[in-house]
Amino acid sequence: MVNIEEIRKEFPILESRIYDKPLVYLDNAATTQKPKCVIDTISNVYTTMNSNVHRGVHHLSQVATTAMENSRETVRKFIGAKHSHEIIFTRGTTESINLVASSYGNTLLKEGDEIIISAMEHHSNIVPWQLLHARTGVKFRVIPLTGNCKLDIEAYKGMFNEKTRLVSVTHVSNVLGSTNPIKEIIDIAHSNDVPVLVDGAQSIPHKKIDVMELDADFFAFSGHKIYGPTGVGVLYGKELWLETMQPYNGGGEMIKSVRFDKTSFNDLPYKFEAGTPDYVGIIALGKAIEWVNSLGIENIAAHEHELTRYAVEQLKTIPEMRIFGEPDGAAVSFLTGDIHPADLGTILDRLGIAIRTGHHCAQPLIDHLGIPGTARASFAVYNTKKEIDALIQGIKRAVKMFTQC
Ligand code: PMP
Repeated sequence: MVNIEEIRKEFPILESRIYDKPLVYLDNAATTQKPKCVIDTISNVYTTMNSNVHRGVHHLSQVATTAMENSRETVRKFIGAKHSHEIIFTRGTTESINLVASSYGNTLLKEGDEIIISAMEHHSNIVPWQLLHARTGVKFRVIPLTGNCKLDIEAYKGMFNEKTRLVSVTHVSNVLGSTNPIKEIIDIAHSNDVPVLVDGAQSIPHKKIDVMELDADFFAFSGHKIYGPTGVGVLYGKELWLETMQPYNGGGEMIKSVRFDKTSFNDLPYKFEAGTPDYVGIIALGKAIEWVNSLGIENIAAHEHELTRYAVEQLKTIPEMRIFGEPDGAAVSFLTGDIHPADLGTILDRLGIAIRTGHHCAQPLIDHLGIPGTARASFAVYNTKKEIDALIQGIKRAVKMFTQC
């Protein structure tokens, strides 16, 4: 059990008033708010240990390096990876996927090879593969959806052939808030000798992740969606793949020696971490994960599931409400009658309620649904049923305004 009132006190921004109304922040799938311990960590690093990492023999550099490497170990334990050198720090999920598309793509793929993605992917798990296609002629195929917006697993099983080289799918849909059967997806791919990249952007804040139990080959996530700072994320990769893949960016830190005629690359994980990393963000991400651990990810998940269940139940009391897919995580997408989601979002904003509207960077899924976009409410551990009540009242008010027109 988590004590929500106590938790809320740790988030200074939740005390904000928006248009003189208490902030109701329901846009957590886009980014979560930050607890004071994370905000303080950023300030403390700059105040007490700021120094470039991995390079200096001097004290501050060593302290900062140790703190950054401790964060790597915190992430390793959090996702159940075998080695800390399998944890690559990136700028976020987007960069993690681009890294694989680029490094795995350039090293191991050739024209005519195939990748499998799905119809519910975020643009960051579509466009890198399109760019790879333009560079190399590697093709991607798309797992279709069933009538209730689930991945069509039977169709997926039939998509493998001797040219299939990688599956890259999202664990949880950022639009539908539904969880894909990721273990089954991985097992099917492995039975075809094909590795799997999991986009964990929407699962990491809400689920216990164990990459070894899943047997995921790659797992990507962003720090800012799990109470950490912006600009820092993670790519987990199995040692075997990371050792095989060529580097992503070139520069300092990722080399052992550089001569004009030949450069040799650094060991993992540094081979993939060219340039000065966002060590301040990385250290603060470690703090965010410690904070999540102090609450227990299972406790967080239980609270969010109850909020989602309650939100769905309450939304269904509104006439002409359409809920998309079968949300089982911490987000729900909906439309009310003919009200355009942008109009609904604007009215709710005036009531201090922050939701997300539009295509949620998943245009192919929105096109598949044949709608202009959705309104999405998404939850974090600090949200309450009272806030969902405020959302429902706000939607009812919007409905009234539009039916009076
Ligand atoms: N994948 C999914 C499923 C997402 O929800 C998001 C963020 N909305 C991303 C990838 C991209 O994350 P980021 O912008 O932090 O790189």
